[in-house]
Amino acid sequence: MTEAVSAGWVVPVDGPPLEDAYVAWDDGRIVEVGRGRAARHYDDAIILPGIVNAHSHLEYAVYAGFGDGQPFGSWLGTHIARKRALDYDEMVAIARRGAAVSLAAGITTTADYSFAGAAAAAAGELGLRAIVYLEVFGSDPGEAELRFNDLRSRIAETDLVRVGISPHAPYTCSVDVYRWALSLGIPIGTHLAESANENEWLEHGAGPLAPSADVLVRPTGRRSVATLADVLCPELLCAHCVEVDGGEIALLADRDVPVVHCPRSNAVLGCGTAPLAELRAAGLRIGLGTDSPASTPSIDPWAELRAAIYASRARERRPDALLAGEALRLATLDAARALGLGSELGSLTLGKRADITVLSLAGSPYDPIEDPSVAAVFGGSPSRVLETIVDGQTRYRQGENEWQEVRSTASAARRRMLA
Ligand SMILES: [Zn+2]
Repeated sequence: MTEAVSAGWVVPVDGPPLEDAYVAWDDGRIVEVGRGRAARHYDDAIILPGIVNAHSHLEYAVYAGFGDGQPFGSWLGTHIARKRALDYDEMVAIARRGAAVSLAAGITTTADYSFAGAAAAAAGELGLRAIVYLEVFGSDPGEAELRFNDLRSRIAETDLVRVGISPHAPYTCSVDVYRWALSLGIPIGTHLAESANENEWLEHGAGPLAPSADVLVRPTGRRSVATLADVLCPELLCAHCVEVDGGEIALLADRDVPVVHCPRSNAVLGCGTAPLAELRAAGLRIGLGTDSPASTPSIDPWAELRAAIYASRARERRPDALLAGEALRLATLDAARALGLGSELGSLTLGKRADITVLSLAGSPYDPIEDPSVAAVFGGSPSRVLETIVDGQTRYRQGENEWQEVRSTASAARRRMLA
């Protein structure tokens, strides 16, 4: 049965915006995008492709504020210590809250790096599309394999929830672990060049990470990007890429490495900000990611869009360093391409999956809407998301999904961590 939704504007992202338009879908795929009104119509609203969050940790959805103001190394230590207080069910409860908040914010797909695999159960239960990259650590591929198989055995893969692997970072995983992970032929993602501390450890065995030497790999004498030079490839999704120089950007571009920009996380942790203009100019595939409340105040893609614009325009001292439409692309089509899903997701295009976000601008300074991309990016917020549709199914509708139990079980888990 064909369903449709219409609004004052439709922004397909891969083509010009359409005024007074609709999107129709059948069996989970988009079958029509055009001018006109559907029975289900939203005034003063914009229909967008569902937001693709290219970097998250749903399992840290209630970790907000832990270790705020601490240097990167001790911040990480605080999180590891508190996480030890949780059992698996509590991790699922927290991840469920992360999935609920994501859907309510207009996110339809998330690329989630998962410590316990709990994110997979949570995303599946709430109907959030996800690639769940199971995290592995250490120098020994054999040990990483044991850990991966253990996590993997708890997860039922579905059309909506796919399993991937995440060697955590070049300072916690050996290149051999990356090689083994790549040999699995499943989605793979890592953290790369997030902070200067990472380079200090890898190059010189020094800096704020040094006291945690027992959980780190031995220094390689090379910077982070150079450490991974042998394994950089189009499949390896690399979150952050803050500490990259011109030569390293050229290497990433040469290998067609997909990158995720997380401007709020990088700013809050005092890591700096990625050279987005240079990364874009080099032709890299770049998605936008909220990261998690462990390092970012909220799972809020709208705040992330604005942060990307503020950081880029401030750094470049140009108002056109990142335009609203370009930012929106980073959070939709470009993010989908970074995940290798550009032919299925990220734009309102015939044949693609019906992943749709409806955003109200009613009563905002952008109403009546002049430029829908500017209005969505500068005026959008989770509280303005009216409906989130994943694979043709409504997974969130404002006023209907309160998720009371999800909220309270996650809060109880946070209370235990604070005890
Ligand atoms: Zn991360």
